[in-house]
Amino acid sequence: MAAQILDGKQIAAAVREEVKAEVAGLKERGITPGLAVVLVGDDPASQVYVRNKHKACEEVGIYSEVHRLPAETTQEELLDLIKQLNNDRRIHGILVQLPLPEHINEKTVIDTIALEKDVDGFSPANVGNLVIGDRCFYPCTPHGCMVLLDKTGIDIKGKKAVVVGRSNIVGKPMAMMLLARHATVTICHSRTKNLAEECRQADILVAAVGKPEMITGDMIKEGAVVIDVGINRVGEKKLVGDVHFESAAQKASWITPVPGGVGPMTIAMLLKNTVEAARR
Ligand code: NDP
Repeated sequence: MAAQILDGKQIAAAVREEVKAEVAGLKERGITPGLAVVLVGDDPASQVYVRNKHKACEEVGIYSEVHRLPAETTQEELLDLIKQLNNDRRIHGILVQLPLPEHINEKTVIDTIALEKDVDGFSPANVGNLVIGDRCFYPCTPHGCMVLLDKTGIDIKGKKAVVVGRSNIVGKPMAMMLLARHATVTICHSRTKNLAEECRQADILVAAVGKPEMITGDMIKEGAVVIDVGINRVGEKKLVGDVHFESAAQKASWITPVPGGVGPMTIAMLLKNTVEAARR
């Protein structure tokens, strides 16, 4: 089987158009959705992510402000800024770009963001709501994966889903979201015995590992849907996923490319969550 492409670029563009219309509707009611992005230090990758988020907001009419703080910023100073943003009526969503410098406790910072403004969805309270199925913000990357499946018309109910990776930002919430949609879910990680055998059971396989092209075609069931979250830089310029695309595409029915798969969906979902926060 030669897989069809789950086109994240195209689907993300459609989501952005939806968001644009929703923003226009809110503006008519006198509400301009607002996002504050906080960046501490000068990590080059983080700077690019923050710039892209700001630009994406501008394109759909979301008010956005970027707070760039020096690497020496103390935890107290950062927490003060977040508390100020929590009380700022123009701001509906707050995103602190990770990773933070080592002297700052990430958990304390995320926990300080007001629950109703936690558009990244990383706070313990938000994660708790996700697990019990209460109203919450879906973390952007797994949310993007779910929208890719839904917009392509791929049925999830009753399917066997395998998620490789158990991070708090991708693997675990991904598994919870698939479970909420009635998939039977297995989570694999670095201590999983016989990973290939687990993967071969999957009707829907999500790879979120951070190891270039680790999942190969022989680990994929004929006709499976393959979602590759991984973004790995190989050499100077080339980006590859966690899945070996060429061999996997021979077996899968649908597969996301890297780049152009999950990546564009993540930002689109951030915009969606910001509008949702403003609506609430
Ligand atoms: P983490 O490093 O936080 O987690 C990686 C997970 O993979 C861990 O649970 C780890 O297991 C597991 N793992 C590592 N090695 C193996 C192995 N050999 N076999 C099985 N499991 C293994 O990564 P993230 O979840 O943050 O990110 C994963 C990938 O997704 C990265 O490439 C990242 O760049 C990308 N990413 C892409 C985004 C996008 O927008 N497209 C957004 C966020 C991330 P253990 O827990 O046992 O250590």
